[in-house]
Amino acid sequence: MAFRSLVILTGAGISAESGVPTFRASDGLWCGHRVEAVATPEGYAADPALVQDFYNQRRRQLAEVQPNAAHRALANLAARWKGDFLLVTQNVDDLHDRAHRDTPPASGFELIHMHGDLLKARCTRSGVVSDWSGDMAADQASPHHPQGVMRPHIVWFGEMPLAMERIERALWDCDLFVAIGTSGAVYPAAGFVQTANAAGARTVEINLEPTAGRHLFDEGVYGPATQAVPAFFGALKT
Ligand code: NAD
Repeated sequence: MAFRSLVILTGAGISAESGVPTFRASDGLWCGHRVEAVATPEGYAADPALVQDFYNQRRRQLAEVQPNAAHRALANLAARWKGDFLLVTQNVDDLHDRAHRDTPPASGFELIHMHGDLLKARCTRSGVVSDWSGDMAADQASPHHPQGVMRPHIVWFGEMPLAMERIERALWDCDLFVAIGTSGAVYPAAGFVQTANAAGARTVEINLEPTAGRHLFDEGVYGPATQAVPAFFGALKT
């Protein structure tokens, strides 16, 4: 069967082989820090310098990593896909963006960073978002508001993910949903498979190993993303 409308959700696992550490992998820590300290509004309010330093380090690391064969396989797919293709990533790195810059997508393609983007900053007073490639200070003055400071444009725990209406619409319209390298532990992304099932789509998870939500998917494909993703999409009729 040829599919017409595709939604792919990616998580930290797709970037792992590029050298970007995953989140909860073994110990509930993100690069040595408790997630409550570096990925919540309360953590930021308690110690803005620590939080800014954490994201400054993550942003600097982007210069040392490259898209891998899994990111490139999705970029190749987006270039040849004839229908709608929404790629939703929970990742805040720019590895998908770079892969698609190298291989421009067909017109039905869109990429959403639902948990924000390391290369963007947001004014705490006006909400204006702008590109940001360097370090950010704890009290980084905002160019958008006299009393504003700039914070990372990252969706922290307890905050609303971005573009949810657009994503929900695409899930209800899709006939193929594939979740890649995500543990299914973080909502609302973890619930996307249920919406896709309710919409009658075929649902597939690609991961190193079956996740706790394996029973929610029609099919599971297991192995490192750099091998499993090119193999799965290489065999898919488009
Ligand atoms: P997660 O760390 O909870 O889960 C990672 C998943 O990837 C696991 O299921 C693991 O089995 C799988 N995995 C690990 N290596 C893999 C590989 N080589 N090939 C295939 N699968 C592999 O990640 P999550 O589900 O994305 O949720 C964590 C949250 O952490 C997200 O909200 C995200 O914003 C944030 N985060 C982002 C990055 C990034 O931008 N790269 C990195 C760490 C955390």
